[in-house]
Amino acid sequence: MDLELPIEKLSHVGTRNLPRLKRLGISTVRDLLWHLPARYEDFSAMTAIADVQPDEKVHIQGEVVKIDTKRIFPRRMSVTTAIVKDDSGAIKAVWFNQPYIENALAEGTRVSLAGTAKLSKHGLQLSSPTYEKLRNGEYGPVVPAGGLTHTEGLVPVYPETEGISSKYLRFLIKPILEQIKISDHLPDEVLDRNGLVNLEQAIHAVHYPKTPNEAEKAKERLAFDDLLLFQIKALLERRKMNQLKSVPIVFDKELVTDFISRLPFELTKDQKVAAWEILKDLEKSYPMNRLMEGDVGSGKTVVALIAAIQAAKTARPDGGRGYQTVFMAPTEVLANQHMETIRGLISHTDIEVALLTAANAWTTYSLGKKADIKKRIASGQAKIIIGTHALIQKGVTFPKLALVVIDEQHRFGVKQRAHLVKNKDIVPHLLSMTATPIPRTLALTIYGDLDISIIKERPVGRQKIITRIVSTKDRAEAYQFIRSEIKRGRQVFVICPRIETSEAKVVDAALPRRARQGTSAQMKLIWADVKAVEEEYKKLSELIFPDLKVAMLHGKMKPKEKQKAMSDFKSGKHDVLVSTSVIEVGVDMPNATVMMIENADRFGLAQLHQFRGRIGRGEHQSYCLLFATADTKTVNQRLKALVDSDDGFLLAEKDMAIRGPGEFFGTGQSGLPDLAMAALSNVELIKKARTEARILLKNDANLTNYPLLRERLDKFQKLTHFE
Ligand code: ADP
Ligand code: MG
Repeated sequence: MDLELPIEKLSHVGTRNLPRLKRLGISTVRDLLWHLPARYEDFSAMTAIADVQPDEKVHIQGEVVKIDTKRIFPRRMSVTTAIVKDDSGAIKAVWFNQPYIENALAEGTRVSLAGTAKLSKHGLQLSSPTYEKLRNGEYGPVVPAGGLTHTEGLVPVYPETEGISSKYLRFLIKPILEQIKISDHLPDEVLDRNGLVNLEQAIHAVHYPKTPNEAEKAKERLAFDDLLLFQIKALLERRKMNQLKSVPIVFDKELVTDFISRLPFELTKDQKVAAWEILKDLEKSYPMNRLMEGDVGSGKTVVALIAAIQAAKTARPDGGRGYQTVFMAPTEVLANQHMETIRGLISHTDIEVALLTAANAWTTYSLGKKADIKKRIASGQAKIIIGTHALIQKGVTFPKLALVVIDEQHRFGVKQRAHLVKNKDIVPHLLSMTATPIPRTLALTIYGDLDISIIKERPVGRQKIITRIVSTKDRAEAYQFIRSEIKRGRQVFVICPRIETSEAKVVDAALPRRARQGTSAQMKLIWADVKAVEEEYKKLSELIFPDLKVAMLHGKMKPKEKQKAMSDFKSGKHDVLVSTSVIEVGVDMPNATVMMIENADRFGLAQLHQFRGRIGRGEHQSYCLLFATADTKTVNQRLKALVDSDDGFLLAEKDMAIRGPGEFFGTGQSGLPDLAMAALSNVELIKKARTEARILLKNDANLTNYPLLRERLDKFQKLTHFE
């Protein structure tokens, strides 16, 4: 059988199940075999029926001595009850609404059952156990040659979807495993060097492992495959990048030292190191591709500015002076903020800075019309140009562009850069900045093609934000505290997780019917608990602070309304801003001193840390108040980590460990397959994959000697091409 065989060719895939399987991402036999178990049910030990204990997961084998089905008419239900006996005793097994089982397991059938025993008012019984028929042999029941599929040993439980059960998937996968040959795309030497099992072994063992350890080894091998492809792709991208041309900008020590000495503050050591790394990159004649990570307030802008100054002051071969730098901000508010910061820091120089957004256009040299500003940019006069992505991508070109700095957008590729220049042979250097502390292992994997500068240290004299967990009984006191801060002229953020209370109902309706009947009370409780922004806004503005000015901000507002809410708050028109998590990263609100977070337990640590970073940017002592819904121990432990630490990287690592990399950084966003995601905490494996990618490409730059690997890589590149 061929791995690329479409699943519709399989005998047990019909028109009903085909679309369902596709929904699980399964189109070929390969997809099916790479649909990996989420976990295993452990039915390793067979239990004698007499030894079955209540609430225990068991695997038993015996003979059906009696079976019959009762119909319960008013509720259109049926109950099938069987008595199964072995040498030690007998036990009852019950199934609901599966009357066909009565025929499948006729009296005298040998059967293998797996499930959980429950003590009911009718005694001990197995409720809806999984069953498999055994053949009656001469000397008792006979287990098929390939072993049992559903009820014995470690039994795979797969990610399911409506209509596709694990039992059905096992039923499809097991027979394929017994006949398929899988050739390994990795050469033996790679397996040996890294202590990995071969692919066929791995695929067998991942579905039907003999021991948990065997399953682990199998998963490790498969995760290695994904990580290796990621690393090879990153290396190839780097290689491509190094063949492109950029303007080399020679580092002028005197110029830079002079600029730094005139700054109104001392740079931190991390800032100096980052600036140095960037200036070194700029000297090269191929494009820099660097990511600068640093907490909110760590001072990334000034580091980027140093590079921009160097570019603006470099002599050009055409006899002119200075290259251009474009600063791209994700929003208008942030673009304005960059303009303010940068204008302040370069006021002693003659460098012309331009701002160009939908609403604003001016330069430090001229306040003319938008057309004039564009002219000053197009003539190369304006050296530093600040704007939003949208505007800059819309047809303005920069004749002397050497460097692009982008804020909070991790992926900005060569193609986008090419849009900014007329001369397509020259690619500007790229510096991308983010306040999301991405744990190193994650960064090495998903940003393997980027160089990374990290700013951990905070500028001296920065205040420590006081963080407190507020229990329900202290709520009134917290409001009192907020009021006193506002009396002193300060402002307050309130963050809530969702928008409308009616979402609770929508969610309820979207639940599968079974869940609605079963756990609906609990689900409703959870959702009713979620503090809706609108509801919170109403409560705060009408009941708690009727005398204060309360405003609201959420993701369903139009961009213009959002911007207005932000800028009104910034200019002090409102005392309290109630918001969902949409409030922008990096907005400077020096007058806001309280960040109050409702249902704090619903957010990840990294996100909570981001919220907290929006205060404490001025001279005043600031406070972060965490309100938790659940008072459970784990929740408190999580929040306590936030109280104890203000190191974004440490919190991000913790967050990833607690919630798993998938939750921490959505799979879709990273382009990483699930398995590689899960392996992100395995630093050793990532390092091995990196080393191996280097060795493979060094010996064989196009992988011509490894056609199977090459083929995997091509498929993978198609799949993860997000630029
Ligand atoms: P972010 O890294 O969040 O983008 P910014 O670059 O906006 O941070 O810097 C926040 C503020 O801190 C700015 O007003 C900036 O001028 C100031 N700043 C930057 N570096 C230092 C420093 N080393 N010492 C004191 N203040 C600094
Ligand atoms: Mg910033």
